Amino acid sequence: MRIDCKHVWQHISAYIENDVDPQLRAEIDRHLETCEICSAVLDSTRNVVILMADDRVFELPAGYSERLHARIDRELEKPHGWNPDD
Ligand SMILES: [Zn+2]
Repeated sequence: MRIDCKHVWQHISAYIENDVDPQLRAEIDRHLETCEICSAVLDSTRNVVILMADDRVFELPAGYSERLHARIDRELEKPHGWNPDD
């Protein structure tokens, strides 16, 4: 099974929370090794999750997570992956 960027984004929250099955996790790990976009999305999402989990730090840039998720939703609707010029 080969997964693409859209699969990674769909499972990224579960991946961060260690809530994906081992086979899928291995596929995501392998994808992340070769995909800068997904690595960046993972880093951004992980930062948001860490901030949300820490009661002492709740100073997210306004609209940060909404923008990220809006971007992901928009990309998921396209027939062909990520367009860096968009
Ligand atoms: Zn990717």
